[in-house]
Amino acid sequence: MTGPRRVLLLAGSTEATQVVGALAGRADVELTVSFAGRTANRARTPHGVAERVGGFGGIDGLCRYLERESIDAVIDATHPFAQQMPRHARAACQALGVAVVHVERPAWVEQAGDRWIIAADIAEAARWVQRSAARRVLLTIGRQELAPFAACDGARLIARCIDPPGPGVLDGAEILLARGPFTLAEEMALLSDRGVEVVVSKNSGGAATYAKVEAARSLQIPIVMVARPPATGATVVASATAAVEWLGRDGTVGPT
Ligand code: NAP
Repeated sequence: MTGPRRVLLLAGSTEATQVVGALAGRADVELTVSFAGRTANRARTPHGVAERVGGFGGIDGLCRYLERESIDAVIDATHPFAQQMPRHARAACQALGVAVVHVERPAWVEQAGDRWIIAADIAEAARWVQRSAARRVLLTIGRQELAPFAACDGARLIARCIDPPGPGVLDGAEILLARGPFTLAEEMALLSDRGVEVVVSKNSGGAATYAKVEAARSLQIPIVMVARPPATGATVVASATAAVEWLGRDGTVGPT
């Protein structure tokens, strides 16, 4: 092998940050981290790691980027609910014969005492809330998919997000701006103080936002749990560590 291998990391998750930490400074890897550009205050990329921001322009645009930048391997560490980017990454890499792996942390699994209503997607979750008798509903699904809940006019909605939703999105809802991780005590206090009767959550998995699930279990509050989008068919690993190991194996980078 001649020279460092060029790796594109599609970011947007905790695991992406961990992959950057593991690969930054490695002499055998030239890393570029790609962000969609949706988060106002994102973590700084370490010195020596290249950064790019914004979409590639669909599958064709990504193909052009991969060729132009001579990318050898792609690590897709977008969020488990990112729908398009993983499909585009898989299709573009397949077309060009570039190695690709999808980092997807395991989904949460319902435990004894949980009261989950599984929804296939956000629209189904919103329909469930609309039909329910719940008067106070906590939405913890981010800011970009709140619109379907506008139809839930019988309930008081509290939407927790990192950045404010756009103007006109869910007018009348209480917006709580907060960035996890949250402790169990904080989540218990939030649910109790606001008299929350139903929580709506994506099944994001991981530890950072799991306390709300534990708090709801403890307080016997149902959670409308939105299921993950369908798998892309790409090779999946469950952690940043496994992605870095993959790179030394199938991604043909580093010592084998
Ligand atoms: P998406 O459906 O997968 O992406 C929509 C489009 O945004 C993609 O087709 C692509 O545009 C661009 N894009 C997404 N991730 C990118 C990346 N890392 N680098 C460059 N372009 C990217 O994802 P989304 O649900 O809109 O989320 C946008 C970003 O926020 C993702 O990176 C995701 O990891 C992160 N995020 C999402 C959620 C969520 O719940 N959906 C939660 C936390 C973080 P082009 O087609 O033009 O290439």
